[in-house]
Amino acid sequence: MRRDYDGAFAQSIDRLKAEGRYRVFADLERICGAFPRASWHSPEGMREVIVWCSNDYLGMGQHPKVLAAMKATVEANGAGAGGTRNISGTNHQHILLEQALADLHAKPAALIFTSGYNANEATLSSFGKLLPSLVILSDELNHASMIEGIKHSGAEKRIFKHNDADDLERQLAAIDPARPKLIAFESVYSMDGDVSPIHRFCDLAEKYDAMTYLDEVHAVGLYGARGAGVAERENAMQRLDVIQGTLAKGFGVVGGYIASTVALCDAVRSHAPGFIFSSSMPPVIAAGARAAIEHLKTSTVERAQLAERAARLKAKFAEANLPVMPSATHIVPLMVGDARACKQASDELLTRHGIYVQPINYPTVPRGTERLRFTATPFHDDGLMDALVVAVDEVWTRLQLRRQYRPLAAE
Ligand SMILES: *Cc1c(COP(=O)(O)O)cnc(C)c1O
Repeated sequence: MRRDYDGAFAQSIDRLKAEGRYRVFADLERICGAFPRASWHSPEGMREVIVWCSNDYLGMGQHPKVLAAMKATVEANGAGAGGTRNISGTNHQHILLEQALADLHAKPAALIFTSGYNANEATLSSFGKLLPSLVILSDELNHASMIEGIKHSGAEKRIFKHNDADDLERQLAAIDPARPKLIAFESVYSMDGDVSPIHRFCDLAEKYDAMTYLDEVHAVGLYGARGAGVAERENAMQRLDVIQGTLAKGFGVVGGYIASTVALCDAVRSHAPGFIFSSSMPPVIAAGARAAIEHLKTSTVERAQLAERAARLKAKFAEANLPVMPSATHIVPLMVGDARACKQASDELLTRHGIYVQPINYPTVPRGTERLRFTATPFHDDGLMDALVVAVDEVWTRLQLRRQYRPLAAE
């Protein structure tokens, strides 16, 4: 008799369901021109919902310049790229996008990938071969894509406490000075909305002769005079060896990249399997992303509106005595602290109130810190916000959720 392969898969799902961590994807249709409204294919049929957890932070996914660039490029170049970058898949739109990104981050070169995840995984994993005996120092809350890249690099990995320069220094000081070192961290940590001490980490990198690798995924388009991220805002871009970003969040399309020196980008281009052996991004995507980047280099209204909307929502939640976490950025998390309650709150908001906010559970966040994570874009007006706060307040009362924000002892 055949082994029960499918039973093993089903069991893994039963375990997730028992813990309240089973992921249900909301089946949505975004409505161009009506963001943040979307149609939801619910079990009872189509319903309009307000999306409150989109990473299209500035609504660039429906910006007229982005749409026009994509329409023109699909007409000019067709659908796909036609191959890997090496074998017939390098389109002029890729070159233009890489130039736009290098310029954005004031670096000599940039290299694009099909996603931010791929950019992190492919780049970090290639460093193990490119820098023999490398030690990678990684913030404990780094994104899964960095963790996977570091794992696949084969390099020795040391984890330092989140945003903790003292712990980082202790660890740097204990490593043989002859060994190459890389400090890998993010600027905005998107679950708590806190920001890393970029200059302090760069000081340590100089003192201990280490390289720096900064993931600006939740900051590009959103911070800095030209939208290059927190490092631009803090005048630190030139101190960083590698800046990594996405084209899927603030820039509203899809894709990822690194910006760095010519030699580093060339080495990753030449050695990273995840870059070499995968078909390149369609030119239409590259054109749309570039339109968003170029628009946000000169237009600051979207950034100003995002900051104003996020501050307003935090204030409204606090006034309503809801447990808003102390975020320094556009991220607005409400702490629930329990996986099942978090899922239940999210379900009730969706089914009763037409408000879509996905529960954030382990392993995305530590157990006991389950939360709802709201993003207020320039398109979430006061009316939508007031309706949201009333609905959330009702759900909190009905489910008897904790109203006091209490961080974990470990935090
Ligand atoms: C979303 C995310 C990524 C991956 O970017 P994608 O373009 O969505 O693949 C990388 N790093 C961080 C911190 C992220 O949140």
